[in-house]
Order: sequence, then C-alpha cells, then structure tokens
Amino acid sequence: MASPHPGRGRQVAPSLVIGLGAAAAFVYAGWCENPECEAQIKEETKATIRVLPDEEFRSAEVPDKCLKCGRPATVEAVWAKAY
Ligand SMILES: [Zn+2]
Repeated sequence: MASPHPGRGRQVAPSLVIGLGAAAAFVYAGWCENPECEAQIKEETKATIRVLPDEEFRSAEVPDKCLKCGRPATVEAVWAKAY
C-alpha cells in the first residue's frame, strides 16, 4: 500500500516507544537524602524518586555514592522519568 506521506513509513508505533522508554527509565541509584540533589536531578533528567525500596528489594550491591553529588549515599532510591 503506497503511503501518501513518503518518509513517514519508518515511524515506530507510539505505544512501543512509550513501552521502551518506561523500561529504560527506572534507575536504581544511591542518594544522600539531600532534597537539593533530588531537585537538580529532576531538573536535568526529569526523573524523580519513585520509591525507597525496603532492604529486601535493594540491589545486592547497594550504591555507596549519591547519584548527584558523589557524597556517601544513605539510601538507595528508585528513580523514574516523569512523563
Ligand atoms: Zn547528593
């Protein structure tokens, strides 16, 4: 079937893009619990903290540095992009 809009045929279905984006958007990272770090990360990446996982859900190797400032992390946080 000929497309009336040449060049548009390569578009990926929006639902697939959203699915991939969501899967890639969850990041486990250390956090120093400083709200300024959270605010700056949100500014730069649009990601916000979704949850501070309980011990049993944390990574085997808990990150020891804050994602933002590099100071010792006091918690592990799950970051996710806000859409
Ligand atoms: Zn920090």
